Amino acid sequence: MILRSWDKVRPRCFADLSCLLLLVVFIPVTYVFHMTLVLPELFGVGSFWYTVIWVAAQFLIFNITANLLACMLVDTTIRMELLKPPLDPDLRARWHMCNECQALVPPRSWHCEVCNVCVLKRDHHCRFTCCCIGHHNYRYFVYFLLYLMIGSFVAGILGGIYLWNVHFDFFYRPFTLITVFVPAVSLTLSPSWESFYLLTYLLTWLAFSISTSLLLVYHWPILKLGSVAKERRSRNYDLGLRANMEMIFGRRMYLTWLSPFVHSELPHDGINWEPVLTHLTKDD
Ligand SMILES: [Zn+2]
Ligand SMILES: [Zn+2]
Repeated sequence: MILRSWDKVRPRCFADLSCLLLLVVFIPVTYVFHMTLVLPELFGVGSFWYTVIWVAAQFLIFNITANLLACMLVDTTIRMELLKPPLDPDLRARWHMCNECQALVPPRSWHCEVCNVCVLKRDHHCRFTCCCIGHHNYRYFVYFLLYLMIGSFVAGILGGIYLWNVHFDFFYRPFTLITVFVPAVSLTLSPSWESFYLLTYLLTWLAFSISTSLLLVYHWPILKLGSVAKERRSRNYDLGLRANMEMIFGRRMYLTWLSPFVHSELPHDGINWEPVLTHLTKDD
């Protein structure tokens, strides 16, 4: 694994900057809100459920932030490899010239206009991480989405109990509806902690909706086939579910959910791809 230097980890356009800022503000604010206000009031400091949820929250916040950082820092561009096109003409024919990079690049590598470089087994450019998702950082991207989905779901449930049950008498008022439908107006006209709590609650369910639809609806059907977004769910590189998962999470994939620091070597170099059908034909 090769890490990018910090100066290369930066938003390159306004859309990237806005999405990253939203995450950088939203994640700590939601975490502090739930840990300092919601959790102690719902369960009482030191109780069994307080302790269980507190420990789970540490695990979730660690994995959300660490996988986000790993996704941004792990270099998956062609710059991290010394590319040597194969001598075999059949294999070489699968490589293509990238005019922007002025280089012959491997199959499944595509140029990103935002990052301005070709990316190995490129899936897409992620606005929230300000980098491309490809062969070497797909694992961290999937875990970031997974833990964001679980974390925001738990936070949404706890926040819902806090607002609609514990503080039922306060939040069942017209201002709640205004905040729900036009949070910016409500915060401007009547700035208060209560409006802020409601906004945090709304953003929590928004984060859950986005992470769930990205991971389960959009990416899962693609990644279970060993494919990437640009290949439109083709089965050219489908090695079966287990092997496809290993291509993303590495040889020790059963441990990778614990932390992005768990080393799990990928079985492929991300460069010398051969479509499965060709591969099978050669073996036969
Ligand atoms: Zn390129
Ligand atoms: Zn990119």
